[in-house]
Amino acid sequence: MKKKVTKIGVLTSGGDAPGMNAGIRAVVRTGLYNGLEVFGIVRGYTGMVEDDIYKMESRSVANIIQRGGTILKTSRCKEFFTPEGRKKAYDNLTKHGINGLVIIGGDGSFRGAQTFSNEYDIPCVGLPGTIDKDIAGTDFTIGFDTAVNTAVEAIDKIRDTADAHDRLFIIEVMGRDAGYIALHSGIATGAENVLIPERKTDIEEIIKQLAEKERRHKLVNLIVVAEGDEFGGADEIAKIIKARLPAQDVRVCILGHIQRGGSPTCFDRLIASRMGYSAVECLMEGKFNVFVGMVNNRMHYTPLNEAVKKKQRISEEWMKIVKILAS
Ligand code: ADP
Repeated sequence: MKKKVTKIGVLTSGGDAPGMNAGIRAVVRTGLYNGLEVFGIVRGYTGMVEDDIYKMESRSVANIIQRGGTILKTSRCKEFFTPEGRKKAYDNLTKHGINGLVIIGGDGSFRGAQTFSNEYDIPCVGLPGTIDKDIAGTDFTIGFDTAVNTAVEAIDKIRDTADAHDRLFIIEVMGRDAGYIALHSGIATGAENVLIPERKTDIEEIIKQLAEKERRHKLVNLIVVAEGDEFGGADEIAKIIKARLPAQDVRVCILGHIQRGGSPTCFDRLIASRMGYSAVECLMEGKFNVFVGMVNNRMHYTPLNEAVKKKQRISEEWMKIVKILAS
């Protein structure tokens, strides 16, 4: 028989994402509602290793649903990669009597949770908190919708200038390994090209299109590029295009960290609330070492060991849509 979870810890780990606070709030309040004790673990796995852990009450999560970032703070923790670090973490959890964990983070954080739950008898449940949406087993991740909407708002503004001056803008969005922010924001802003890490880019084709558009005097062009594309981001693409088409007025805009922050959208608050609620239910029902995702608007549970192996696949059709709608 699986042991009963009575005291749970919640932490946010890895890159921050808007909506993490809504997730923490849901975990804390659902836990308390069900008679569990809830502990906040500060700065992700670092708080576990360094015993930065405190008891949370309902008021601890008041007035945070609308705030970006994470009240528990987050970090990348080198010590947790080592068996000694994880042993310290286990000892600290045991000291507080914590016998269940909710980890809000990306695939790296899930890998940490998976390793930890293999070694120690502390069940872990993950919530996908990452702006990159690069986790298989869920249609959306907490923070993605907000990040994309921030990118769309910025790109719309850039389009005004691109139009006024007949310029080519190359806009770099976040995504070192994943092109979802680029693909979604590119389609939503009518970009002519979207360059992403998951696909090879035919740069000759782009240059040919730009030359052809120059002839047709269609001079407003937006190219959205994920930071991890094969050329190494917007500056590099600009250099290549400038060298080949010197008449083009090329400008680069790197959106950077504005995409991480800000008040979460309604959608991110909703999924974070639903997922947080579900995570506590999982721990109470003995559905251990899974992460809670959403597929077709229903909760969906994927074992952590499967989650760390797979990535969401980019849709060929969506790439085709970019081309057809921009022609
Ligand atoms: P994200 O969760 O956003 O993908 P990271 O990849 O930086 O972020 O992972 C967050 C943290 O998870 C790491 O700093 C580390 O503490 C822990 N972690 C990641 N992978 C492992 C692993 N294989 N073993 C143990 N801990 C890990």
